[in-house]
Amino acid sequence: MSEVIKIAYLYEDLMNTYGDSGDVKILSFLLKQKGYDTQVDNISLGMKFNAFDYDFVFFGGGQDFEQSVVAPDLQKHRQTIKEYIEADMPMLCICGGYQFLGKYYETSSGQTIEGLNILPFHTIYKADSRMIGDTEYKTEWGTVRAFENHSGRTYFDDKSELKPFGEMIEGYGNNPDEKQEGMRYKNVIGSYSHGPVLKNENVADAIADKIVVAHKKRMANAVK
Ligand code: GLN
Repeated sequence: MSEVIKIAYLYEDLMNTYGDSGDVKILSFLLKQKGYDTQVDNISLGMKFNAFDYDFVFFGGGQDFEQSVVAPDLQKHRQTIKEYIEADMPMLCICGGYQFLGKYYETSSGQTIEGLNILPFHTIYKADSRMIGDTEYKTEWGTVRAFENHSGRTYFDDKSELKPFGEMIEGYGNNPDEKQEGMRYKNVIGSYSHGPVLKNENVADAIADKIVVAHKKRMANAVK
């Protein structure tokens, strides 16, 4: 029997725009090729969550309304998510899920949705068009092609701590001003890319490798 890699999908029922759940399916497929089975748990409203029970945490995109529903519940998991991130464990957050790692997201209707305030960035709205369309950008693992659709503009508050995920070739990414896409901190990737983004096999493979390393680390800690 194969070893089981455990994946937490945060609020899958509420945060899944433009096929983001495909990211988890692609990872399960790649991990199977590497000899592992996967178990995916949907962590939704009112549920208990210990991030250290998992080898990977995924957070998909969402519409403003769903984000406002998720936000108060998510705060209960702040500590475990923060410790998980600081322990170098892997996490992928897309669009609305990415916005949640920062301080806040000001929506087009003037509502402020509190973020987890784990990483130093914030997201605001400015009265002109949404950032929508195809994207292409360069990352550490090569070129990525995806799709974006968001009104939030993300800005880093501390550029010494966070790195962008990519440098834009086409599209907006974080905002219309900086030509950068997403965010990296330790083994966390935040991105505005749907599509799903992990149809880009270069990035999918790199994340699958990180997950295997994290799984081995978790298993080694469990037997101590
Ligand atoms: N609702 C957020 C925004 O418009 C996130 C969108 C998304 O996750 N696709 O910025």
